[in-house]
Amino acid sequence: MFKGLMQQQPLMISSIIEFAERWFPKVEVVSRTVEGPVHRYTYKDMGARARRVANALSSLGIEQGDRVATLAWNGYRHMELYFGVSGSGAVLHTVNPRLFAEQLAYVINHAGDKIVFLDLTFVPLLEGLVSELPDVEKYIILTDRAHMPETSLPNVICYEELLEAENDTFEWPVFDENAASSICYTSGTTGNPKGVVYSHRSTLIHALGSSIPNGLSLSGNDSILLVVPQFHVNSWGVSYAAPMNGCKLVLPGPMMDGASLHELLDSEKCTLSLAVPTVWMMLTGFLHESGNKLPHMKRVVIGGSAVPEAMIRSFEQEYDVQVIHAWGMTETSPLGTLNFLMPHLQELDYEEQMPIKLKQGKSVFGIDIRIVDDNNQVLPHDGEAFGKLQAKGHWVTSGYFGEEQSDSVAKDGWFDTGDVATIDPDGYMMITDRTKDVIKSGGEWISSIELENIAVGHPDIAEAAVIAMPHPKWDERPLVVAVKNQGSDVNKETLLQYISQHVAKWQVPDDVVFIDELPHGATGKLNKLKLREEFNDFRFS
Ligand code: ADP
Repeated sequence: MFKGLMQQQPLMISSIIEFAERWFPKVEVVSRTVEGPVHRYTYKDMGARARRVANALSSLGIEQGDRVATLAWNGYRHMELYFGVSGSGAVLHTVNPRLFAEQLAYVINHAGDKIVFLDLTFVPLLEGLVSELPDVEKYIILTDRAHMPETSLPNVICYEELLEAENDTFEWPVFDENAASSICYTSGTTGNPKGVVYSHRSTLIHALGSSIPNGLSLSGNDSILLVVPQFHVNSWGVSYAAPMNGCKLVLPGPMMDGASLHELLDSEKCTLSLAVPTVWMMLTGFLHESGNKLPHMKRVVIGGSAVPEAMIRSFEQEYDVQVIHAWGMTETSPLGTLNFLMPHLQELDYEEQMPIKLKQGKSVFGIDIRIVDDNNQVLPHDGEAFGKLQAKGHWVTSGYFGEEQSDSVAKDGWFDTGDVATIDPDGYMMITDRTKDVIKSGGEWISSIELENIAVGHPDIAEAAVIAMPHPKWDERPLVVAVKNQGSDVNKETLLQYISQHVAKWQVPDDVVFIDELPHGATGKLNKLKLREEFNDFRFS
């Protein structure tokens, strides 16, 4: 080999905070705290406090590879843990507090967490679980002395006191870039949650890969309202990518209602924000009621579930904010694809662009996707063929914690996402369903997601789910379960009539049931498993 002569440096998460501290020392991080007030400081302050965290962990006996959990909202202290824990070589397990109680205990025990850092909000939750967490040695409450609660939790420490006792001199260790940096568990809608273990290398490359112009296009001009939780897939990697690009970071804490988000978007002049559709529904609802606008916002990133057409139109046409539709999952760090229009598509008129905008988008460099049939044969990029969506790349999982030999990852390295998709000749991928949700009617597949998108396009429908129900002749047929807007008089006939204008006759659902509320899972998504259980006895008449 004729060897290159460039330096080799392991890719370390600590290098991100060191860089931000040195080159963007005055850029602000603004957080709405659980205690109430808005807190502000800079990347310089964050760097110093992350080093105090690292010193504190060492005083507490935490060693490289040990797992440290957080149960916390998006805030500056959570950021300090992102860098202090992973930077010192320990592994950050960001626990999703919306998991069911038994799943919470399961993930903390499964990960082997030695310390749990928790926001005040979650003290009662953990008090109820403590007897099931024999391996947790310390509970550190993310507040100051004045706000420390009375608690039955054992071995409690006040975070601010812990940091005060340490100094901010600390040399970030350099070690193998393949070492684990953080763990996120999938929400486990079927069976127990599964642990996805990220490495320093994968996290850094993902942050770089998602920053580029064809990605989130991050720069020092951005002020980012990070709504997607830091306990959900590392806040889509933005907790790393923002300091890397010198972006101002705004963290909403526990307040995710429309009015609170709007207040921060406005006062902090946010240019970019990221969240799931449910959150944006609350924001646009608030904007409609209050008559407020979004004068500073340039783009919103929407992912986690499909973006409804009405939401794209509302952001783009009413508020002049560009929608970036993205697809990914815990197992893909999460960035998989992102929708940016290529020049020849930008020339189309708005209505012609809409079907493309509704797609989940194109891969960015660093992750590759393909669709295959039941025999693992690769399907063409013709926008018609749909098959199982698989992914491969620098930030895609190669197995789950404790079950490294998972069936989800094929021998050739392709990870089976559990999604069903098409890919068109320009490379735009479109999710047509989850493998387990697709409706198999007389040998043909009907996309539940497509029908849901159409149903919520009806002006009187607030939310809709489409599930497969057994049918004597066709095996399965679609049933719509919908929530009406208040005061609307939409009924089964008018809704089915509306849907039939958009799909082939054989795809029109057989029935509609209206209910007050649809069940949602820990990440705010529709819980179709629960819905199917609730409709277990339903039969088409
Ligand atoms: P969890 O598994 O905890 O629910 P994930 O974020 O890992 O959370 O969920 C990933 C799944 O969410 C994907 O496999 C896909 O089914 C769905 N998803 C994510 N983004 C989109 C999107 N833009 N459109 C449709 N579905 C999406």
